[in-house]
Amino acid sequence: MRNLQPVRGTRDILFEDMRRHRAVMEAARRVALQYGYHEIATPVFEFTDVFRRTLGETSDVVTKEMYTFPVREEGDSVTLRPEATAGVARAFISNGLQQQIPVKAFYTGPMFRHERPQKGRLRQFHQVDVELIGVAQPVGDVEIIALAQQFLEAIGLGGSITLELNTLGDLESRKAYRAALVEYFNDHLDSLSEDSRERLHRNPLRILDSKDSNDAQVVAGAPHFADYLNAYSTDFFGQVREGLDTLGLPYTLNDRLVRGLDYYTHTCFEFTTDALGAQGTVLAGGRYDGLIETMGGPSTPGIGWAAGVERLAMLLQQDTAPPRPIAVVPAGKDAEKRALQVTQDLRRQGFVVELGYSGNMGKRLKRADKVSACAAVIMGEDELAADAATVRNLDTGEQVRVGLDALSEHLRGYQQR
Ligand code: ATP
Ligand code: MG
Repeated sequence: MRNLQPVRGTRDILFEDMRRHRAVMEAARRVALQYGYHEIATPVFEFTDVFRRTLGETSDVVTKEMYTFPVREEGDSVTLRPEATAGVARAFISNGLQQQIPVKAFYTGPMFRHERPQKGRLRQFHQVDVELIGVAQPVGDVEIIALAQQFLEAIGLGGSITLELNTLGDLESRKAYRAALVEYFNDHLDSLSEDSRERLHRNPLRILDSKDSNDAQVVAGAPHFADYLNAYSTDFFGQVREGLDTLGLPYTLNDRLVRGLDYYTHTCFEFTTDALGAQGTVLAGGRYDGLIETMGGPSTPGIGWAAGVERLAMLLQQDTAPPRPIAVVPAGKDAEKRALQVTQDLRRQGFVVELGYSGNMGKRLKRADKVSACAAVIMGEDELAADAATVRNLDTGEQVRVGLDALSEHLRGYQQR
């Protein structure tokens, strides 16, 4: 085999890591359920158009980051999903879900982007996502943000995150702002990076999001969206903020916050932390009222967010240690057979039990230590004859003889089930 390393930007998620992943996903699922969101799954790949037409032809994701493959039999191409909302919008249309609005969906899974790997930035990463489809009222925005906040609190990040909030207005406002930006940036062409000059006519809003330090200076003097919002957009944003205030959810206004994808309107937001260096955004989302219609579905508003599981797993403030097992330790051939039965019996009753596979008692006790068992159930000739076992508390070394019929009752003191 040529290369046994995982592909650059991908990684194996082993035991302790996976427990942290799982804890993040479970917390999201639990909180989403409290808000009445139910789990779905969509395919990991979709026809390329699903992403190309919706994320914006000039977005970084579409121009540089998609994994796209031809599919022979259809004469078409498919793309590994770089994000999830477009696929869910596609599923909303395919399944005729407009009959069921509001649709409240939660899901989780891998995403694929061909970008430069670094800490907190992978080519295959995982997200938890929620979408609220069919609600045009600002209370939808408030609920989806409150859900995000409660989820981040549930994994112990309540104190270390900031909610940044902005509005991208409706189409009319965006058009007016866009014109003002083009005019302003045209006056500062010389100071702009080549990338940003490129963006100027295709999507000037994205210049606001530039990571280039020279651009940042120009951006600092750029017109502000607030001055171009029409009355409807201003009022909508006002109601979202009022809702957040009502719930006592703190936020920071950031009118340079734009999202990387084209389909957003009105509210957009990010939860950030400074605990992760450059990759500080852990959760991001916004309203996408035009998306479903753009895809050929019925005009339907939507709002949602996505959170990066890897980034959150790094920050998780939660003990994910599995329960300490009980080790069954037989000594001798006959005892092995009986121990196998006892082990199985205990497992059926819900105990977490490790059975040594081989070796003498000393070796098996060592193994019990290694898996940090809380107790050893020792079964030798003597115990067999008495239909009993010796239970050793592996923390204190204390031992007691227990009849097999009373064993599970006794072990309940070690493992709460
Ligand atoms: P960034 O600004 O970090 O590139 P983004 O705006 O591209 O993020 P979104 O498309 O909003 O990210 O995805 C939502 C979340 O998914 C991000 O906030 C981040 O936590 C996570 N995420 C995005 N790209 C990656 C990646 N390549 N590796 C790991 N996590 C990622
Ligand atoms: Mg990105």
